[in-house]
Amino acid sequence: MLQSVIEEADSVFATAQSEEVLLHAKARFLGKAGSVAALMARMREIPPADRPGFGQAVNAAKDRVEALLQHNLLRLRAEARNRDLAGPFVDLTLPGRRAEAGAVHPLRLVERKMLAVFSEMGFEVALGPEVETDFHNFTALNFPPDHPARDMQDTFLTTDGRLLRTHTSPVQIRTMLANEPPIRIAAPGAVYRCDTLDMTHSPNFRQVEGLVIDRAVTMADLKGTLLRFTRGLFEKDLEIRLRPSFFPFTEPSVEVDVQCVFCGGSGCRVCKHSGWIEILGAGMVDPAVLASVGLDAEVFGGFAFGIGVERVAMLFYGVDDIRHFYENDHRFLSQFA
Ligand SMILES: [Zn+2]
Repeated sequence: MLQSVIEEADSVFATAQSEEVLLHAKARFLGKAGSVAALMARMREIPPADRPGFGQAVNAAKDRVEALLQHNLLRLRAEARNRDLAGPFVDLTLPGRRAEAGAVHPLRLVERKMLAVFSEMGFEVALGPEVETDFHNFTALNFPPDHPARDMQDTFLTTDGRLLRTHTSPVQIRTMLANEPPIRIAAPGAVYRCDTLDMTHSPNFRQVEGLVIDRAVTMADLKGTLLRFTRGLFEKDLEIRLRPSFFPFTEPSVEVDVQCVFCGGSGCRVCKHSGWIEILGAGMVDPAVLASVGLDAEVFGGFAFGIGVERVAMLFYGVDDIRHFYENDHRFLSQFA
């Protein structure tokens, strides 16, 4: 009887092909309801005089079953190790793959640079929503009802009658409505226009807008601010020139050229041999805009200017295709890390 339990355990343990199966079989023989415990329970059937001998025999059988279990546990571990060694070779001394660290996007770098220059000049950063009303984006900025910029081909309209702002200028309106002059803000942000993506255009790009409103602000203040801004931005003593232009929200309006950052004004391919590069639009705030936010144009005046972040980033880094900024190509982006 004892021998048959030992032989059965030997046979069951020897055929186990995994530690899990083996430990399951262990319970069958050595567990509380196992074969060895059942043998021990038979003690009552044994005449009292034979009980010590029977007890010793059962304990010996239990020791034997435990030894068989241990033997097979070692057998299975040795087999598993041999399987690992026979498998594909893993060279643990090879260097690992390094996780690439991210970096600040070049557009953000340029925007931060612009805001740093604005900050030195005492401008505060102001933000506004990208989904705007027609009033903030057009009407208050003196766009006539029939202005071509309002055409659906230029502006993304939302189904609830609002629009994606086409410039950061609505932040001017929101700031003037919420604050008393003096006002001096820089407004960075994304803007949207129905343009087809090509080398120099994108339907979604970034601008930084500057606005100053105070008493007795003159065109000389505008030019001085622009000169200091462009010199701070490009970190060179470049000259600027103002050319007459037109924007609905400024009067007079100017296009601002900066001396070519590449050739210093002597003429090169980038500046098309003119020595100048157009970088921003500006002007004195139109009295109609002041009126739309309830400011008395006889008392207050100011100037505004807007600059494209992508355009400056292309000049800064010598990037010839705006699409590089949006494609998230790691090989491109890692150059700015
Ligand atoms: Zn040049």
